[in-house]
Amino acid sequence: MQLTLDTSLAASYKSSSQKVRVVSENWVKNNLYCPVCGNIRLCKFPNNSKQADFYCENCSAEYELKSTKNKFSDRIVDGAYSSMIERIQSLNNPNFLFMSIAENIVNSLCFVPKHVFSPSIIEKRKPLSENARRAGWVGCNILVSNIPEQGKIYIIKNGNIKDRKAVQHKINAINSINISDIESRGWLMDVLKYVNLIDGEYFSLSDIYKYEDIFKLFHPDNNNIRAKIRQQLQILRDKGFIVFLGGGKYRKVCIWD
Ligand SMILES: [Zn+2]
Repeated sequence: MQLTLDTSLAASYKSSSQKVRVVSENWVKNNLYCPVCGNIRLCKFPNNSKQADFYCENCSAEYELKSTKNKFSDRIVDGAYSSMIERIQSLNNPNFLFMSIAENIVNSLCFVPKHVFSPSIIEKRKPLSENARRAGWVGCNILVSNIPEQGKIYIIKNGNIKDRKAVQHKINAINSINISDIESRGWLMDVLKYVNLIDGEYFSLSDIYKYEDIFKLFHPDNNNIRAKIRQQLQILRDKGFIVFLGGGKYRKVCIWD
């Protein structure tokens, strides 16, 4: 894997976003292994494919690439809101690759597995105005800040290529909480995210109960939020993300950086 981008490909494109797209897609095609199965290369879907940008011939995983010349923002603009929600709910949404470029090199590349996506990560945008070409069309943003840290796996960070074994270890960890039921997945990812937000290595039930109102917003139909939180903590304990110390005390297990 080398980090330099072939910018000569961009010469025939006018818009800056097209230049970034062409150059970054070419880089992925020539350099990136499949983060899901480790296959040596990914294949490109035809341009404008509605499905995704890349796929793996070995495991059929699909990837959508989002690249930027700026730093990653907390909100990444994606396609139509309704089709994104539909794809998440029917479990055929793609995995994501978020790339940031600096001085013609790949500065960061972050892999987000498809099973960490839940509707609470997708934000509905305002419909396009009546004067727009696609008046009334509703797009979406991916709220990157709502994805738990364990679901954001860096393959390249600040210009450094991460060790593949370490990357694989993190992927295995997040794959261990691959839940197909969307409501349950949403709960688990939300609780994991708020466990991460609590300062320090140790926490108690009361620390996580502080977020009860936020969970209620995400899951308005649930009337027993605290029981649901405890259920997610049990799953996180069983999968090695946290340790129960007894008496409503917990310790976080650091399996990421
Ligand atoms: Zn694969």
